[in-house]
Amino acid sequence: MSAAAAFERVKAGEAGRPAGPDRAAREAALVALARAIRAEEPAILAALAADLGKPAVETRLTEILPVLAEIRHARRHLRGWMRVRRVRPTLAMLGTRAAIRPEPKGTALIIAPWNYPLSLALGPLVSALAAGCGAVIKPSELAPATSALIARIVASALPADLVSVAEGGVETSTELLALPFDHIFFTGSPEVGRIVMAAAAKTLASVTLELGGKSPVIIGPGADMKRAARMIAWGKFANAGQTCIAPDHVFVPRAWEERFLAELRGQIAAMYGARPEASRSFARIVNARHFARLKGLINGALAGGATLAAGGAMEEETRFIAPTVLTRTAPEMGVEREEIFGPVLPVIAYDDLSEVLDRIGAGEKPLALYVFERDRALIERITRETRSGAVGINVTLAHYLHLGLPFGGIGTSGLGAAHGLWGFRAFSHEKPVLEDRFSALGLLMPPYSGAKARLARLVQRLVG
Ligand code: NAD
Repeated sequence: MSAAAAFERVKAGEAGRPAGPDRAAREAALVALARAIRAEEPAILAALAADLGKPAVETRLTEILPVLAEIRHARRHLRGWMRVRRVRPTLAMLGTRAAIRPEPKGTALIIAPWNYPLSLALGPLVSALAAGCGAVIKPSELAPATSALIARIVASALPADLVSVAEGGVETSTELLALPFDHIFFTGSPEVGRIVMAAAAKTLASVTLELGGKSPVIIGPGADMKRAARMIAWGKFANAGQTCIAPDHVFVPRAWEERFLAELRGQIAAMYGARPEASRSFARIVNARHFARLKGLINGALAGGATLAAGGAMEEETRFIAPTVLTRTAPEMGVEREEIFGPVLPVIAYDDLSEVLDRIGAGEKPLALYVFERDRALIERITRETRSGAVGINVTLAHYLHLGLPFGGIGTSGLGAAHGLWGFRAFSHEKPVLEDRFSALGLLMPPYSGAKARLARLVQRLVG
């Protein structure tokens, strides 16, 4: 469907539901979506294999499960989220009755990236539907099989005047961004995030920006090195490193560097075998452009004096890049400056933790920061002295799956939050409603006699 047609359909649907869909209608939409996803499971596995060479288990765990879990969570909590909340009067407001009514913002635009192309399109849709919004989804053109499948799933499960899919690339996205949506939920790069926010400034749509950046790992001297290596290998090489919250690079105490590298090599071999190109558990790079970018990052680092501690093999035809670990990288190299977004892990040895914390503080605030350490005081220090979208302690990635936690970035890694209640809120307007019953407001209205001036002073003293 074209951008304009998709918008018009959903906008017209919204006009036909002035109070927004009731809870039963929202639940029905969520149930229909879950049913369609289950029915299309084989097609989903095939689409992600075609787009990203994604192993079936990874597709189940990172594409299907998060959406179904989000639906289940929303259905379980919908009544509570939608509840009109009474608010007790403050002293100055005695004699009034107040409440907060969560209402749908209206028609939302969801723009999705290619790296988890299904779950990052349909996950936000669950929140939109729970909040009572209609939505237009713009899937990523870089995952074409999944994009077509999303259009089919949505069309089979939901009326087009509630949710429509506009497939296409930058042009479609640009066209959509010029339309007066009520909320824009964007997942993608910080660069495009800026374009989205600038477009939203024109229509004054509210925005949720789920962006990216360089998520660091800090290994402390008291870390369980084996556990750290296992978690980091999993977090980094799942989906071939094309994960917004993948560990981007690792800081390790210099005294532990060799031990950590040995553990990491062991974990990579345990997960992907001696020949990862033959592994059925390892994904491929999404397209030739990203393959060339990653190849450039690796070769640039090696040419500048970095050392290959693991991997390094690349095959252009199949867009395969082996799990690669680099040491002796330098701050001016691409691998230490850009978001890597691929299976390449710089391991940076440090002598003094303060230097690491200063460096993180001087850079852009990351989407996630991971700490591996056993000493509670040190964990607390790192958590307190750094700013990031989220912190994972002795674990990577998993905070994404905890639907009781808000998921989002800060600064260049994002604005606002997704998942569960926070996703519901992103698409809701919390409308305050105040009713006057027997307040004393009338006593303070003009004309301002001497008595009223005294009363105003008294009120100021009592409540000010
Ligand atoms: P991207 O920003 O290139 O594209 C995202 C979407 O924006 C796509 O649908 C694309 O068609 C559209 N788009 C691209 N250029 C545009 C333009 N000039 N104007 C309007 N729309 C445009 O991102 P990507 O390459 O698909 O995804 C990778 C990035 O996304 C990484 O930075 C990653 O960290 C981030 N990411 C963040 C999260 C999160 O939850 N925070 C999740 C996944 C990915």
